[in-house]
Amino acid sequence: MSSPHHTAPCGTHFRFLPLTGRQEADIAAASGDTAARALGLLSALLAGAWRKGEPVTLQDLTLAEYDVALSGLYQYLYQPTVLCEARCRDCEEPFEFSLNLPDLQSAAWANTSNFEGQHWDSLSTPSGRVIRLPRVKDLSTLQHATAQEWAKACVIEGDTNFEAVQADLAQAGPLLSKDIKTTCPECEAANTVRFDVARYLVESIEGETAFLWREVHLIAKTYHWALADILDLPRSARRDMAALIVAERPRVRAAS
Ligand SMILES: [Zn+2]
Repeated sequence: MSSPHHTAPCGTHFRFLPLTGRQEADIAAASGDTAARALGLLSALLAGAWRKGEPVTLQDLTLAEYDVALSGLYQYLYQPTVLCEARCRDCEEPFEFSLNLPDLQSAAWANTSNFEGQHWDSLSTPSGRVIRLPRVKDLSTLQHATAQEWAKACVIEGDTNFEAVQADLAQAGPLLSKDIKTTCPECEAANTVRFDVARYLVESIEGETAFLWREVHLIAKTYHWALADILDLPRSARRDMAALIVAERPRVRAAS
């Protein structure tokens, strides 16, 4: 597993705790929307976040920083590349494409230099507005807000034309959860696929539940440890132990 530190293109620095089997099992068993489950996971695993060396709480992160934190957590647990599955809107054939999260982040943050100010405080836009980026703590109130209420909540000075404010927000506080343009390898039709980093993270952990229980089973059977103790192991340690147990099994010679 790589270093638990992750620095975002916005300069915000994140540090994560190891994922345990208990958290993996909780994610798989939880119901509700993936956004809430991703927030719960990040709040359990975020050991700290720093902006220019100053600590910042999860609730105070802008949604753009929060997106980067989720992406950082994915890279800490897995790798920088995500493999997406889609179905072509023209020929209906399934196809896969990969995305590199650091590249996606760098491209998304490229236009933020058009804004003057600090991204976590207030920003002057080229269109003459002064805006504030929404934060994690705003999510519960903004969740049910109308487009106009959302725009008003983010404008400190200037007009609150929703489309214009939305365009400012998209550039000043870019989100990795976005529509990705891709081409079908079968018929070469242009496709737009929604990528959501929160959903991808939660579904990746959910998709490994069978491995989790197999590793727990191997360790319980070998060492006779209690389930609670095995679930408290960091995922990397549990996997290494399970791999050693498998490697030491007596080999069965295939019948010729
Ligand atoms: Zn196609």
